[in-house]
Amino acid sequence: MMQETTFIDTVDGRQEVQWWDKEDFRGRVNTLTSSFGRRSIPIPDDSIHCDFCNELIIEFPVPVYRGSYALCKECLGDIKQ
Ligand SMILES: [Zn+2]
Repeated sequence: MMQETTFIDTVDGRQEVQWWDKEDFRGRVNTLTSSFGRRSIPIPDDSIHCDFCNELIIEFPVPVYRGSYALCKECLGDIKQ
């Protein structure tokens, strides 16, 4: 499905933000690198957390920063200039 894209101005300049519905988060994985090597850990489809502050996100669509970082409203407000 089409994801709406908007732009916000941040300290790093103009950045793209995509707006994802709940279904757009299906099948995401977290890749962790540890002393045991790289591991991919599936992210549960029903719990979407802010990648900046780890707050549970319950409102959709969710702003997604730089292609893969989900943001809560507070963090979106924080990175906006
Ligand atoms: Zn946050």
